[in-house]
Amino acid sequence: MARFGKGDAKICAYCGKPADSSRRVVQSPAIPDVYICEFCVDACRDVLDDQEHSIAPINMEDIPTPKEFKEYLDQYVIGQDYAKKVLSVAVYNHYKQLSGDRLSKTGENIKIEKSNVLLLGPTGSGKTLLAKTLAQKLNVPFAIADATTLTEAGYVGEDVENVLLKLYNAAGQDEKAAERGIIFIDEIDKIARKSENTSITRDVSGEGVQQALLKILEGTVASVPPQGGRKHPNQDMIHIDTTNILFICGGAFVDLDKIIEKRLSTSSIGFGAEGTRRTEAERMELLNQVTSDDLVKFGIIPELIGRLPITCALKELDKADLKRILTEPKNAITKQFQASLAIDDVDLSFNDESIEELAEIAIKNKTGARGLRAIVEKILLDIMFEVPSVKGKKKLVITRDIVNQKCIPDPKTLLIEEKTA
Ligand code: ADP
Repeated sequence: MARFGKGDAKICAYCGKPADSSRRVVQSPAIPDVYICEFCVDACRDVLDDQEHSIAPINMEDIPTPKEFKEYLDQYVIGQDYAKKVLSVAVYNHYKQLSGDRLSKTGENIKIEKSNVLLLGPTGSGKTLLAKTLAQKLNVPFAIADATTLTEAGYVGEDVENVLLKLYNAAGQDEKAAERGIIFIDEIDKIARKSENTSITRDVSGEGVQQALLKILEGTVASVPPQGGRKHPNQDMIHIDTTNILFICGGAFVDLDKIIEKRLSTSSIGFGAEGTRRTEAERMELLNQVTSDDLVKFGIIPELIGRLPITCALKELDKADLKRILTEPKNAITKQFQASLAIDDVDLSFNDESIEELAEIAIKNKTGARGLRAIVEKILLDIMFEVPSVKGKKKLVITRDIVNQKCIPDPKTLLIEEKTA
């Protein structure tokens, strides 16, 4: 290879052009007298970027089956079997859709459409956890958004587009990867119309956000400002096609069961006398019979409901569930605190009564499983503050009295052997 031109000019080994004042070159650190020019560096960067952005086609053979998805969820999420099944199938079908068009028996090209999911479940029942855990198992980007943070004021839609920005960032700023991702939108019930009157009404709070969400759920090429926030006229936009993005929406939908019950009680199927307290099983049964009309009555616009064809109810967690949540999942709260305090040489354990008491407090506080961590955090605060200063191996058994703060353990009494050396 000719590396030198006339008068020992430095030649770019890629394009063969000599270095001059408008073509700077960089010397190879490994091979003497080998150069690359700045234009070739740019060209190589483009080639590499293109390679990065070329998305591998989906091969269904490599995709976990719905059963495998569910088994994975079982390791982290207690109960909610029906929701796990629904989500596992939805995600599996999402991959089918991404794997391309199919031929029908008669040879026609069939496009499999996505089916977005609506999860109905009380706060702290595991909706976000399910979505998050699925994300760990998937190799598509995933983002979580809270519907209550979306605004409808001013230029409607911009803030909703920020949801796509989250996905874009989760996809390593790769539009093509973002376009096959999954978005979980929590608290969707909080953007319901405030007025029960579903005809044209002036009180349409929440409807603006619903309309904006509808656009991205339906499939559109959205212009997203790369920095988030409001659009600037001169800002370069990222264009994200939302056609293949799977949306999972969740909300507590308080009193939706009453709307369903009212409908059913006027039809032939009865659900006991109105006003009597229902069991959780009955409430779940009701919620799993939800129709579009019920959701419209709740305040969700029909077009949005049309884009969420799969609905499924999550159970309110009872004491037995909460006890299992404290101890069973792979990263159960008690296991996390044990691991954390082990770093400070504390052998931490919880006796059965303490677990029972923790679950009872969470039930009393009506926070579902969401409150468990805060409760444990609170009772262990003093211990976590003190023990790092007490050197040597320590042992602590959390009892019912410690949980209800009748007894406060003295960190110095936890030592089980004197520090040697
Ligand atoms: P939601 O979205 O339904 O309000 P989350 O999924 O955010 O509730 O739950 C809050 C926390 O409670 C989770 O991070 C998890 O620690 C715990 N949790 C809730 N439900 C379950 C469950 N079914 N199994 C295990 N942990 C749960």
